[in-house]
Amino acid sequence: MTQRHALITGAGSGIGAAIALALAQTPGGCRLTLCGRSQDKLQAQAENLRVHVPDVAVLIAPMDVADAHSVEAAVQQAQARFGPVHILVNNAGQAHSQPFGKTDATLWQQMLNVNLTGTYHCIQAVLPGMLDAASAEGGGTPGRIINIASTAGLKGYAYVSAYVAAKHGVVGLTKALAIELARKGVTVNAICPGYTETEIVRDAIHNIMQKTGKSEAEARKALAAGNPQQRLVQPSEVAQSVLWLCAEGSGAINGQAIAIDGGELVA
Ligand code: NAP
Repeated sequence: MTQRHALITGAGSGIGAAIALALAQTPGGCRLTLCGRSQDKLQAQAENLRVHVPDVAVLIAPMDVADAHSVEAAVQQAQARFGPVHILVNNAGQAHSQPFGKTDATLWQQMLNVNLTGTYHCIQAVLPGMLDAASAEGGGTPGRIINIASTAGLKGYAYVSAYVAAKHGVVGLTKALAIELARKGVTVNAICPGYTETEIVRDAIHNIMQKTGKSEAEARKALAAGNPQQRLVQPSEVAQSVLWLCAEGSGAINGQAIAIDGGELVA
């Protein structure tokens, strides 16, 4: 992966942080642009990367993925520093739960804006440079767009209808764009994790405890119960699938929505 430039959104925590670390630790490494809203979280993650990989080339480029201008400005900064983006990981996301009756237009729009439109904004901003780089004149470096969707992009869950709708949208966008770019040196795939041990799941556990009176252990067990392995997925396991999609030999994997869920979707 020598000299490839990877831009990861939501890189300050959870799955995004694990993906950034995995890409940094790959032999040859990657030049990394870390994006998210909180500069402090990104700074802390950049320092963490330097502990593990002292010579890592890392840039912090804060952005709000829901805001096209903010995305455009951050991508310009990233391209000015490290050149075109070869690997885009659309990982930024939010998962707020409410029964459908309490899902007002604000919550609905927020879930769509961050999870789906945010993915659209980032692809729009990096794609021209990625396509140039993938062309023979640009050096023929293959492009990889990896959208972190969710099992919620492939099946329904109660009380998160807006999130489920947004993640199904991400999977749809992935499939359409994969076909459109198939002969242009860029693959587009979605990774669909089941419940993964991060802040989003810790919030969900807290929510279950508040609404049902369950203990933390019971709430955690309830979330893990849907996974045939009876456990939460680890962020590093999701990161491994991203590394695999970025590998040179993975060029024929295109338009897929790959579940990292211990078998939940086939149970
Ligand atoms: P997380 O730790 O809360 O990470 C989400 C990241 O997204 C944060 O770093 C956050 O940083 C960033 N973010 C949120 N809103 C943003 C915005 N408007 N603009 C830019 N960045 C924004 O949770 P996670 O579990 O790692 O989630 C990562 C992705 O995995 C999400 O897309 C999520 O839907 C997906 N996923 C998670 C699970 C799970 O069980 N954990 C399962 C399936 C899919 P800032 O707050 O600094 O912006």
